[in-house]
Amino acid sequence: MKKDIPALYGSLVFNDKIMRNKLPKDVYKALRKTIENGTHLELEVANSVAVAMKEWAVENGATHFTHWFQPMTGFTAEKHDSFISTTSNGEVIMDFSGKELVKGEPDASSFPSGGLRATFEARGYTAWDPTSPAFIKDGTLYIPTAFCSYGGEALDKKTPLLRSMEALSSEAVKILHILGNTAVTHVSTTIGPEQEYFLIDKELYRQRRDLVFCGRTLLGAPAPRGQEMEDHYFGALKPRVAAYMHDLDEELWKLGIPAKTKHNEVAPSQHELAPIFDTANVAVDHNQLTMEIMKKVADNHGLTCLLHEKPFEGINGSGKHNNWSISTNTGENLLDPGSTPAQNIQFLVFLMAVIKAVDEYADLMRISASSAGNDHRLGGNEAPPAIVSIFLGDELTAVLKSIEEDTYFGEHQNVQLETGAHVLPHFVKDNTDRNRTSPFAFTGNKFEFRMLGSSASVATPNIILNTAVAEALSQFAKELEGTAPEEMEHAVHELIKRAVKKHKKVIFNGNGYTEEWIEEAKKRGLYNLVSTPDCLPQFIADKNVELFTKHHIFTKEEIFSRYEILLENYVKTISIEAKTMKEMLAKDFLPAVERYAAAVSDNMRSMKALAPSVPTASAASLVAFLGEAYEKISSSLDVLEKEIQETDKKTSMQEAADYCHNTLLASMEELRKTADEAEAKIPDEELPYPTYDALLFSV
Ligand code: ADP
Ligand code: MG
Repeated sequence: MKKDIPALYGSLVFNDKIMRNKLPKDVYKALRKTIENGTHLELEVANSVAVAMKEWAVENGATHFTHWFQPMTGFTAEKHDSFISTTSNGEVIMDFSGKELVKGEPDASSFPSGGLRATFEARGYTAWDPTSPAFIKDGTLYIPTAFCSYGGEALDKKTPLLRSMEALSSEAVKILHILGNTAVTHVSTTIGPEQEYFLIDKELYRQRRDLVFCGRTLLGAPAPRGQEMEDHYFGALKPRVAAYMHDLDEELWKLGIPAKTKHNEVAPSQHELAPIFDTANVAVDHNQLTMEIMKKVADNHGLTCLLHEKPFEGINGSGKHNNWSISTNTGENLLDPGSTPAQNIQFLVFLMAVIKAVDEYADLMRISASSAGNDHRLGGNEAPPAIVSIFLGDELTAVLKSIEEDTYFGEHQNVQLETGAHVLPHFVKDNTDRNRTSPFAFTGNKFEFRMLGSSASVATPNIILNTAVAEALSQFAKELEGTAPEEMEHAVHELIKRAVKKHKKVIFNGNGYTEEWIEEAKKRGLYNLVSTPDCLPQFIADKNVELFTKHHIFTKEEIFSRYEILLENYVKTISIEAKTMKEMLAKDFLPAVERYAAAVSDNMRSMKALAPSVPTASAASLVAFLGEAYEKISSSLDVLEKEIQETDKKTSMQEAADYCHNTLLASMEELRKTADEAEAKIPDEELPYPTYDALLFSV
C-alpha cells in the first residue's frame, strides 16, 4: 500500500504551516520574529498562540500538556497537566492560557543541581522555547522548555545551548560585517547527529541484571564470532530489523524528525540512524526524542534498543557523530568554501576560527565526550583516541601552509604562482577526503565531531563548540577592526598566517589509532586526557571559567555545579556497575559454577562405578579449574564489597571518581577475566543468563 509520507511527516507537530493557518496574521508575524531573531514575546501573543495550540492538540486527541525539559541527568523530564478546567456550573472545559504556555513551575528539588539550589528553595521554573516546535506524543502536548532556578541559574542543557547559539551569532555577525558581508543579521549553528545503537531480543535482555541495571554486559565470554568477518557494516537488513527501522522512521517522521539514513554498523546487532541536519537547538531536542522513540519502538517489536557506549566487550561500541556547521540568515553555509575569492576569504576566517577554538579548548571538547560509558571506547581503536585533533585533508592543509609560507596556492596543489596576484588563494572544495580515525574532521562543508558517546545529549559538545568558536571570532574581529576594505585581503592573510603558526599543532591528517600518534601528540603538547576523572578538572580551569563567563554561557557557580554533577554521575555509574557485578556473580554465576562442577563430579563418580577403567583426569582437572575460579571470585567479591564501601567514604567527588577509576574498575576487570574464563568452560544451558552468542546473533 502506498503511504502518503509528506502528509504523515510532521503530522504531530505544531509546525509553521499549522501556525500560519491557525494564528491571526499579526500574532503569527510576532511569533516568527521571536523564532527567527529571539525577540521578546508579549503575553497577548502567547495567549493567542496557546489557544491555537490547544485547539490543534485537542483536535488531534490530546488531553494533557507538559513542559518538556532537559535537566542535567542527560535525559528529558515531563510532568503532565490536563487541559480540563471546571466552570462555575460544574462543567468541564478544555482550557490553556498563555501563562501556562510560557511558564511552568515544576518542583526542582529532585533534579541534580550540583548544589546550586538548596532544597529549601526547591522551586525552579520552565520557560517556553518557541524556537523548538511543540508536538503531540501519547495524548499529550509537549512544549519544549528551558529549566532554570528562581535565581535564574540554568539547571538544564537547553539554556546554555541557546546562550551559546546567541554568542556565536553575535560574534559571527560582527566579523561578517567587518569583512563586508553586511546583509547577514543572524547566524545559526546547524547539526546533524548520527546515532548508533544495538538491537537485541527483549526476552534475553530481561534475563541479565547487567543489561537491565547498567545497559551493558559486565560479564560474558566472547562469542566464537565477533565482527572479524566485516560483513555486518552496510549488510542486508534482517527482516525483524527492517520492520523495526520501518516503524521507527514513521514514528520519527510524524514528530517532524527528518530521519534519513539507516544501515547496519560494524558490530553484529549494531545499527545507525542519521537525520537531515537542523538548527542546533531543534536537532538536540530531536536527538533526545529519537533516543526515546528508538527504545519505545523496540519494545513494541519484542526488542531492546541499547544506547550504551559499550554494551559488549570485544566488539565495537556505539558513538554519535555531531556534524556541525554555521549558516547565515541569508542562506550561506559559512563552512562551505564557496566559488568566489570573497567567499573563500570568509570561509578561511571561519575555518581558522574553528581550528583556533578546537586547539585552545580541546580539553573542553574532550569533556563534552566524557562519561563512564564512553571511557570504554575512546582510545580503544574503535573510536578516536582521547586526544582531540583536527583532520583537514590534504588540500586545505596545503592551502593553510601556502598562506603560512607566503606561497601562492593555485588550482593545483603545490603550484607556486608569482606573488602579487591575489594574496589569498582561490581553491575549490574537495569532498573526497575521508578519515575515520580523526575525532574532529572537516568533511567538505561541515565539521564532524566523532568522539561523542551514543547515549549522551548532543547539547554539551555544541555548547562548547559554539562558545569556543565565538571567542575565536571575537579575537579575530579585534584584529581586523578598522581595516580599510582594500586592505582587508592582506589583513586576513596576515591574521591567518599568525593563527596557522600558532594552532597548526592541532591539525593531524594521519591515522589516529596508532601508538606513534600518541607519542607525536605528546611532543606537540596536546592534551591526552584518558579518562573521565582525568579530564573533568579542566572544566573548572581558569581559562575555561573565563571563556564561559565572558560569553555569558555559564556563571562561575554554574560551572562548578556542573563539574560536581558530572563527577557524581560518574561515581554513581561505576558504583552501580560494581554492585550489579557483585550481585550477578554471587547470586547467578557462582551457584551455577558450583552446580556444574558438582554435576561433573557426580557423573564421573557414577561412570567410574559402572566402568572403573574410564579415565577421569580431564574431568578432574575441569572440576579443579572451576573450583579455583569459584574460590578466586568469592574472595575477590569480598574485596570488591570493601571497595564499594570505601568509595562512599571519600570526602570529595573528585577523590571518589579517581578511586572508582583506579580501584573499582580495575577490580571489576580482574573479576571479569576470571569469570569469563570459567564461563567458557560451562555449557550454555547450565549458565544462569544468555551468553554473547545468543545476545548478538539471535535477532
Ligand atoms: P557523510 O557522513 O557520509 O558525509 P552526509 O554528508 O550525508 O554523510 O552527512 C552526515 C550528516 O551530516 C547528516 O546527518 C547530514 O544531515 C549532516 N549534515 C550535512 N550538512 C550539514 C550541515 N551543513 N550542518 C550540519 N550537519 C550537516
Ligand atoms: Mg558521517
